[in-house]
Parts: sequence; C-alpha cells; structure tokens
Amino acid sequence: MTLVVVGAGLAAATAITTLRENGYAEPITLIGDEDELPYERPALSKDYLQGKGSADQLYVHDAGWYDGVDLRLADRAVAIDRDARTVRLASGAEVPYGHLLLATGARPRSLGIPGAERAHTLRTRADSDRLRDALAAAERWVVIGAGWIGLEVAAAARTAGHPVTVLEYAPLPLQRVLGDGLARHFADLHRRNEVDLRLGAAVRSVEDGGVRVDGELVPADAVVMAVGVAPNTELAAAAGLAVDNGIVVDERLRTADPRVLAAGDVAAAGHATLGRLRVEHWDNAIRQGRLAAATILDRPGTYDWQPYFYTDQYDLGMEYVGHHDPADRLVLRGDPAGGEFIAFWLAGDAVTAAMNVNVWDVNDTLRGLVGRPADPARLADPAVPLTDL
Ligand code: FAD
Repeated sequence: MTLVVVGAGLAAATAITTLRENGYAEPITLIGDEDELPYERPALSKDYLQGKGSADQLYVHDAGWYDGVDLRLADRAVAIDRDARTVRLASGAEVPYGHLLLATGARPRSLGIPGAERAHTLRTRADSDRLRDALAAAERWVVIGAGWIGLEVAAAARTAGHPVTVLEYAPLPLQRVLGDGLARHFADLHRRNEVDLRLGAAVRSVEDGGVRVDGELVPADAVVMAVGVAPNTELAAAAGLAVDNGIVVDERLRTADPRVLAAGDVAAAGHATLGRLRVEHWDNAIRQGRLAAATILDRPGTYDWQPYFYTDQYDLGMEYVGHHDPADRLVLRGDPAGGEFIAFWLAGDAVTAAMNVNVWDVNDTLRGLVGRPADPARLADPAVPLTDL
C-alpha cells in the first residue's frame, strides 16, 4: 500500500526513516510545498540565524538518502479525496494512497493590524536567510511578541550588536508557560542584555519608520512579528476530518479515517494521561513521526511520553520536560540569580514538570520524576542527588 506523506518537515522525515529502518518496502511519496528536503528548524532562530552554521547542518538526510522515495517538493497538496484515496497537488498531479500521513506543521500567526505585512515572520529557512541578511543591514530592531522565538530573535539581534525593543502585550514574557517567577527570570535576562523590553504593550500598526504602540512610534529598521503559530489544518478540514486546534487524532495518531494519520505540530493527539494535546516542539515531531510509523507498521506504541522542549538565549540554555498547569506549585533547586537552577512544578505531591537551566545532562533523570510523587523539601535540596529523589 503506497504511503503518501503531506508536509516535508521533521515529523515526516522521521516517520519515513523509521519505516525504512523497519523494513517497510512499500512505495512512499513525500509532498512538500517548500523547495527543500526536510530540515530541522530550531537553529533558524539560534546558531544559523547568527551565521554560525551552514544550511547543510539543518537537513535530516542528504538528497541521496531519499532514493526510493518519490519526492514531490515545491508542490502543494490542495485536496484529499478520501473516497477515491487520492491527494491532488497544486501542479495538477493526483497521487493515490493506501495510508496518508498529514504532517503539515504550523505557520506564523499575524496580528491583524495595519502594516503587519511589513514585518518579518520566522518559520522557514528562507525566512531565516532574510533575517540573517537584515541582521547585517538593519540597525534598530523591534520584535513583536516575547514568546520563545521572539526572545531568541531578540537575543540574536542583541548578540549582533543592534539596539532591540521587544513589545509584549502580556505583563511578562512567557508568563502563561512559566508563571510569574520564572517569567521574570527571562525578563531580567533580556534587560541585562540591554533589550528594551516593554510589557503590557498594545501594538497598533507597523509603519514605514517603526511600530506604533500606545500612541508612540518605536523606531525600527527591521520588525519581526513572533506571536505564535497556527496549525495547517485546512487540507484535513476540507476533507471532512475533525479539526479542533489541530487535526484530531487518537493515541496512535489515527484520525477517524483509519487510513489517515497526523503527526507533529499539526496533530491534536489524545495523550495517555494528559488529555488532548497539540505540541509545537522539535522532540514531539520526532517522537510522533516514530509513532506514526509504528501505527502504519501495526506495531505497539502509544502517545504517552512527557512533552519536552529547549531554548538557547545569550548564555542561558534551558530544557523543560512535562506539562504543568499555571496553578501548580513551583519548587526551586538552586538560586535563579546564580544562573544555574532546576525548577519543579507539583500538583498535590506529584511532579508535573521540571526545567533545568544551565544545568546539563540531567533532563532524562528529570523526565523520570515527572508523574511521580516527590518530597518538595528534598527536591529543593541540592545536597540530595537527583538520582535519589
Ligand atoms: P514543520 O516543520 O512545520 O513541517 C511541515 C511542512 O509541511 C512545512 O515545510 C510546510 O511548508 C509543509 N506543508 C504545509 N502544508 C502543506 C501542503 N498542503 N502541501 C505540502 N506541504 C505542506 N522546538 C523546540 O523544541 N525547541 C526549539 O528551540 C525550537 N526552535 C524553533 C525555532 C524556529 C525558528 C521554529 C520555526 C521552530 C522551532 N521549534 C523548536 C519548533 C519545531 O521546529 C517544530 O515543532 C517542528 O518543526 C515541527 O515539525 P513538523 O514536521 O510537525 O512541522
């Protein structure tokens, strides 16, 4: 049965790799609208943006690896006919499938404000290349949105020596994800690095000379809008598949149509213990790519791992594992002011998430603690080895 994969990103490439490694010999067609082999995006706002890496380092595999995969790049899937089991491409081609994996990812949201189209967004390598060029040419930078990508771009622009203003509507950056205490840690990090971080800022428009916010024009030679992403669900919705902030799939990544699966940023998947989740992170694209392959191969596997993500900004490197609620209790091990610490979140006596900041090679141990009961006093005590918790 031919497998057709729509979206040539990390989830797609990982699924295909897993299938081939496990002896899947059926024809595979990979459809991607970018004129690129599948590549990894995290460096696009970090090293690659700062000119430290080459494009070759981004790719999951080189072109030769895809011998035996029918690659349809720079072409877009525009319709799925689930009765005929075909995918129609923008080029007019009709591709038949036995299984269909939708791995269409997400795209940057835009604030619907006048002049929004003047701002850069960052999702693709081409976007990162444009920003890289702008880093060489544009002096004053304004970043709209203090989420992970906005803050990473701000760090890149500061590292390049540019004056940077970050405009965030919320009272703190990353507040919804981290809660007040740790959100303040990120605010302090950027202010220490001389970012003009303006919180509670209502952006009105992007204009020729800058960004209008609360009646003032903040001057800018380059503007980046980083206000989150929206899952690319239109294709699935038009094919009559359930969509609810992502393509709705079960704990094996199957839609209600057993021949159609979804994985990665676009999938709103039923987690074994955490309810329905859509996770927009690198690790999830890899793990769900593997799980989609297991489902196609009819092998065991279920969506039961804890979400994981990481960021690098200036001299701060951080990893987070788990899924906590803003109301969960925060327990710190080490002093954030010293730059190196671990944060735990607890609901009742159970650890819901943990985050290591500039403390390395501990995340697997932290992952093992998530979901288990733990004594807050011992979690907070650096004298108790993590492996004894
Ligand atoms: P994508 O990588 O989005 O790939 C989907 C592909 O499908 C895209 O090429 C898209 O153009 C294509 N497509 C969509 N619709 C169609 C169609 N109809 N026909 C054909 N092709 C289509 N995660 C972390 O954990 N840590 C990080 O530090 C981090 N940094 C990031 C930095 C940046 C700048 C970005 C953009 C993302 C970052 N992420 C990070 C998130 C991570 O990159 C994503 O979670 C991951 O790329 C998701 O992979 P995916 O395969 O699901 O989707």
